[in-house]
Amino acid sequence: MKRKKLVVANWKMNMNLAQASVLLHRLHERIQIHRDIEIVLGMSHLHLQPLGLQIDRRKFRQAAQNAHHEDMGPFTGEVSFSMLRDLVAYSLVGHSERRIKFGESLDDVQKKVPAAFRNGITPILCIGEQKDERLAGETKQVVHDQLTSALANITPEQVAEMVIAYEPIWAISNGVDYQSHEIASPDDASEMARYIRMQIKSLYGDYAANAVRILYGASVTSSNAKAYLDAEGVDGVLVGGASLNYHEFSGIEQAAYRSLHGVS
Ligand code: PEP
Repeated sequence: MKRKKLVVANWKMNMNLAQASVLLHRLHERIQIHRDIEIVLGMSHLHLQPLGLQIDRRKFRQAAQNAHHEDMGPFTGEVSFSMLRDLVAYSLVGHSERRIKFGESLDDVQKKVPAAFRNGITPILCIGEQKDERLAGETKQVVHDQLTSALANITPEQVAEMVIAYEPIWAISNGVDYQSHEIASPDDASEMARYIRMQIKSLYGDYAANAVRILYGASVTSSNAKAYLDAEGVDGVLVGGASLNYHEFSGIEQAAYRSLHGVS
């Protein structure tokens, strides 16, 4: 099965609306439409609607960075997937910053995945280990537990549609330098993509395993993107810090084009 390359930006809590609009304008200028590359911009809830009026949907799709699993109710300050349903195609779910800084549990993530599907939104599930877990040799166990728990209440057809982003937490940048002092290698990315696909195959079957898109994320820049995009089993990248710079992000999109067409 031929899977499209997927490049996802995670703008996190950066930029006011005017700044985000300028960045989007620059990306429109630099990024061409390619049939086999999908580009998704993960932005603040606040920016989804106004930038939705500006965005060229032939080039970009919008994503939320998080949402609440209930469709409505007494949850002050929260935004539900049902509120986002006409605004976004995708939403990040279970990003490590949500898990670590906002105490999102395996249980919370497990509820969010079907809530996204119920509202016509494709989840981009983020999973990955912390430094101490890696040092203790627990990477695969941690990833296995995050994966199986998050997918417990969805169908194999839904698993096939979704996106899994493997993000080793210790390699995520501080958002300013684009690159953490320690980065994972393309071989690490490939090994974990293979492991995740194998787990999906054993739980949900061949179709889901062949169709699910698996991304690598953490310190991806225009200089290293092609190596990750070329890594076997890796269908794309999730980009934080470098997605805030249009030179960098358009360079990453060009790397996806070169990877698809076998150009060095
Ligand atoms: C992220 O936090 O999802 C991420 C990939 O960040 P960065 O690219 O800045 O490491």
